[in-house]
Amino acid sequence: MKVTVLVGGVGGARFLLGVKAALGLPAVGPGTEDAPHEVTAVVNVGDDIWLHGLRVCPDLDTCMYTLGGGIDTERGWGRAGESWTVGEELAAYGADPDWFSLGDRDIATHLVRSRMLRAGYPLSQVTEALCHRWKPGVRLLPVTDDRVETHVVIDNPDAAAPDAPPQVAVHFQEWWVRHQAKPAAHRFASVGAEEARVLPEVRDALESSDVVLVAPSNPVVSIGTLIGVPGMAQSLVATPAKIVGVSPIVGGAPVRGMADACLAALGVETSAAGVGAHYGGRGKGGLLDGWLVAPGDGHELPGAEVREVPLMMTDVDATAAMVRAAFELAGVEGV
Ligand code: GDP
Ligand code: CA
Repeated sequence: MKVTVLVGGVGGARFLLGVKAALGLPAVGPGTEDAPHEVTAVVNVGDDIWLHGLRVCPDLDTCMYTLGGGIDTERGWGRAGESWTVGEELAAYGADPDWFSLGDRDIATHLVRSRMLRAGYPLSQVTEALCHRWKPGVRLLPVTDDRVETHVVIDNPDAAAPDAPPQVAVHFQEWWVRHQAKPAAHRFASVGAEEARVLPEVRDALESSDVVLVAPSNPVVSIGTLIGVPGMAQSLVATPAKIVGVSPIVGGAPVRGMADACLAALGVETSAAGVGAHYGGRGKGGLLDGWLVAPGDGHELPGAEVREVPLMMTDVDATAAMVRAAFELAGVEGV
């Protein structure tokens, strides 16, 4: 079976562990050469950012480290056994930006990536090269090789300064990490998206998929950015596979993090019904054939079938059960 999964970072990576387990693959690490199933993860690049001359790809790295066994499981991001010497040295120089933590081990990844990018390799090939080490057991594809970065118009955090404009546009990471998504967001922009193209391998994967899953990732800055890459929406419309999404909102709140602050900017209610309607039923020109919501979050979604199942990714078994429910909703067999 060929499974394609649209993912962001932490929520996406945890979901992928369950996808692998549901297919009988080891959740962490490589499968066997002759594994009968193939998983392709299409990963958001909107969070990517240049820091200290290094290209940092948070969502790709979270997926790679999680599936390859290198993640710090407590934090959910970055490397296990991390140290912070380089960051301390940068801070001693007063090097900007000072609000993004880069661990020493993690920096090695960014050094290899940045060097390859500067040598002219596209991000997809760089990712493949990094995955030779991590062996995530799924094919990790950036949604595009082109630079697409999420920026956000927010209430100016320095509004008290003389002549300060009431609103400013910043990189998504600055709002999310530095300001903890506290200043209200008004609008998101995918900088570079107009000139970007979906990766041909992503298009091909969608064309030959037996089922497409939308992970319970941030609907705006992970899934929204990814679907906004030119060519992606058309590829999703064209896929012969059923598309089943999983709600990141349970009981009216994000399970982790601040997705509500992103949804508010779009005027989307923070609820499974709000996100479901935002994605839309495929029978009505939207994204989803099926929509998994938590028990008690059931609602009507015209053009899609909605099913209530437990959606807490507390461990790999619970996540695999969610994935099996998604397979069932899609009507795919053979697992
Ligand atoms: P990020 O890029 O690291 O922010 O991660 P993602 O965009 O992939 O995922 C973030 C989303 O995952 C948040 O909106 C959370 O609500 C959602 N999430 C995290 N843990 C769970 C869980 O156990 N169950 C569900 N349904 N959603 C979760
Ligand atoms: Ca992310």
